[in-house]
Amino acid sequence: MSLTEIRTRLAAATAAAGRAPGSVTLLAVSKLQPDEKVLAVLRAGHRVFGENYVQEAAGKWPGFRAEFPDAAVHMIGPLQTNKAKQAVELFDAVHTLDRPSLADKLAKLAQARGSSPDLFVQVNTGSEPQKAGILPEALDAFLKDCRAMDLTPMGLMCIPPEGEDSAPHFRQLAGMAARNGLTGLSMGMSGDFESAIALGATHVRVGSALFGARSYV
Ligand SMILES: *Cc1c(COP(=O)(O)O)cnc(C)c1O
Repeated sequence: MSLTEIRTRLAAATAAAGRAPGSVTLLAVSKLQPDEKVLAVLRAGHRVFGENYVQEAAGKWPGFRAEFPDAAVHMIGPLQTNKAKQAVELFDAVHTLDRPSLADKLAKLAQARGSSPDLFVQVNTGSEPQKAGILPEALDAFLKDCRAMDLTPMGLMCIPPEGEDSAPHFRQLAGMAARNGLTGLSMGMSGDFESAIALGATHVRVGSALFGARSYV
C-alpha cells in the first residue's frame, strides 16, 4: 500500500474518532526493508521511522540522515543494556523501556549527556511469560522509580498477544496512561492501527502494510 493510502486511512481514522488532524504520528517501520523502499518513502516526504535493531539502524541511518537531516528514528525493538549508549546516540525515541536495569542505564546516560530520547514504557498487557515489558500491576511502581531517577517517560507502548483481539489491550493501555498522567500511546501496527487510533493511539507503528513483507535473511 502506498504512503498516500496509509496516510489517507490514518487521517480518516483520526477524524472518525473525533480527534484533531495531526494528533497521530505514523512511524514507518523500516526494519529489514531494502534501502530503495525506505528512500522512496523519505523522498515522498515522510520523516518518522521505526527500527528494531541497533546494528541495522546504525548501518543505514547515518547515510539516510546525511540526505534527510530532519528524519527521526524511533527504536521499537528490544534494547540490550550494552547497546543503550549507542541507542541514545542514534535514536530520537525509545519505545521499549521494559525493565528496571534499562531504566537505570538510560538514566545514567541521560545524566552524562544532559539529554534523553523520548521514552515510552513497554507494558506486557497480556502478561505473556515470553514477552518483554512491565507487567500491568507493576507499572505504577516502575514509573515512580523512573521519575525518582529523573527519567520522564512520555507514554506507554504495547504489543498485544498474537491472534487475540487487540482492542481490549489498547483500551487497557490507554487507561493505564491516563491514570499516570502520560499523554503518549504507542500502539497499533499494520493490521490494527485504525482500531488503535479509535482508542487513543498517538504513535502507530506500520511496517508491512506500507513497505510490503520483510525479507528475513
Ligand atoms: C515490526 C514491528 C512493527 C511493524 O509491524 P507490521 O505488522 O509490519 O506493521 C510494529 N511494532 C513493533 C514493535 C515491531 O517489532
